[in-house]
Amino acid sequence: MSATPQVRSQAGAPVPSVDSTTAVAPAFDFLDLRAQFAPIRVDMMQAIARVMESQHFILGREVQSFEEEIASFLGARFAVACASGSDALVLALMALGIGDGDEVITTPFTFVATAGSIARVGATPVFVDIDRDTFNLDPAGIAGALTPRTRAVMPVHLFGLAAELQPILELARAKRLAVVEDAAQAIGARHHGSAAGTFGEFGCFSFFPSKNLGGAGDGGLITTQDSTLADKLRLLRVHGSRKKYHYEALGMNSRLDALQAAILRVKLAHLAQWTRARQEHAERYRSLFQAAGLGSAIDVPAAPATEYVHVYNQFVVRAKDRDALRSFLQTRGIPTEVYYPVPLHLQPAFRYLGYTAGQMPNAEQASHEVLALPIYPELKEVHQQAVVQAIADFYSLKH
Ligand SMILES: *Cc1c(COP(=O)(O)O)cnc(C)c1O
Repeated sequence: MSATPQVRSQAGAPVPSVDSTTAVAPAFDFLDLRAQFAPIRVDMMQAIARVMESQHFILGREVQSFEEEIASFLGARFAVACASGSDALVLALMALGIGDGDEVITTPFTFVATAGSIARVGATPVFVDIDRDTFNLDPAGIAGALTPRTRAVMPVHLFGLAAELQPILELARAKRLAVVEDAAQAIGARHHGSAAGTFGEFGCFSFFPSKNLGGAGDGGLITTQDSTLADKLRLLRVHGSRKKYHYEALGMNSRLDALQAAILRVKLAHLAQWTRARQEHAERYRSLFQAAGLGSAIDVPAAPATEYVHVYNQFVVRAKDRDALRSFLQTRGIPTEVYYPVPLHLQPAFRYLGYTAGQMPNAEQASHEVLALPIYPELKEVHQQAVVQAIADFYSLKH
């Protein structure tokens, strides 16, 4: 796609007001992790030094303390740290004994690791379309996707908003299915007063740097309320071994580094405040868009219903002429992202499942319309104003 905006006045001459030199805010990034690091630099460096002095790098006291702190933050009984959010999903399915011949119901509108984890353990992902308003798995579609092979449902709390869990949990209880929550984007999100990730058998979290609680590299964690399942996870993340060189089960190597744990412990203390900043930014976007009066051109996510606490890992709007808008914004120095341009049921990697275009209409429509706007905690009001102003300019010039 051309980086030149297709915006011209009636006479065909360039419109002066869209010249990039008129951008009102200094350049900013979609996500600025340096802005997050600056005020916690001293604490971070101390935490890193503490691990270096100990020369203890794998699991150990630092990881255990982190697990305890995050379990308490989430109100979960057990938290087991591992090497990534993707591994958290795989370990959860392994602990449930899900594999060959089993089916797991999930959403096609998510990061690849969700369905990837199901396929990775040898089971079959079964996609159910999303709800138009929330982008989350539509519980109404689950009953029609059940077969005698269905073993679990894997809802994703996409962009930081919990999926509608009550009907999923009820159905799972009635049909004896496990629920594995992909809470990678939703640490701290709440639903009916409890934390996302504490409803099902397992809640899976990611500390990939762009998540709300991001490490200095990869990291993940699984929560559970069941001591037997927690024990299984601890076994599986260290090759199925409780005693050195004795193997009870086939596991894997998926542990959190002590360095990551030390870093995440520093950051966890700031998470609630960072989340509040994200929520304030979302509110501000809503009022700025309302004031801009863009009508149906931009569909802004509504404030969540009272039983939800949204943590806004992403602020995702639906936009008319999304790709043209995105190119235009790029020329104005406004960074955006598209999560996700192709739903999983139409990805080459999942072609073997046999889905075709048109089978998941809501996910497919979303993939053509969604646009994520910057919403990191340190984002400034002038940046948000510049984002909304540039979007308003695009539509007023184009239509
Ligand atoms: C980030 C993410 C994952 C995977 O986490 P990694 O730590 O990157 O492996 C899984 N599911 C969703 C929805 C994610 O956003």
